[in-house]
Amino acid sequence: MATIFSKIAAGEIPSYKVAEDDKHYAFLDINPVAPGHVLVIPRKEESYIFNLSEDEYAALTAFARRVAKALERAIPCKRIGVAVIGLEVPHTHIHLIPLNSEKDMDFSHKLTLPADEMQAIAARIAAEFTKE
Ligand code: AMP
Repeated sequence: MATIFSKIAAGEIPSYKVAEDDKHYAFLDINPVAPGHVLVIPRKEESYIFNLSEDEYAALTAFARRVAKALERAIPCKRIGVAVIGLEVPHTHIHLIPLNSEKDMDFSHKLTLPADEMQAIAARIAAEFTKE
């Protein structure tokens, strides 16, 4: 059975898309820990990031790096934080989080932003990604 993130990457479940290529997809986390919190996934269904092949892992992190560069231009911040958890959704994903303080990576404190704000954030990141 397809994972929820596969369905998102296939466009079967809506998401706030920020970037994609033939093997990867990036979209806003629906409950961000900070505004601009992005998830980067491989289209391939693999639950655990370290079970990807070396090539798949390298391609995923290279794509995530490109998304992070767009993210830091779209959402001014001190750094982009990176996390891999995967305890909730069994489909590899890298969290990219705009950081201004350590507290911005507190996964026990999640936000719910209005849809128009999520849409505007995604559009800003997507616009920066296409400027590369
Ligand atoms: P984890 O698997 O522990 O890394 O957490 C999964 C993350 O996916 C959480 O931060 C959720 O808020 C996020 N998430 C779950 N479902 C969706 C969805 N449909 N769209 C966007 N983000 C989601």
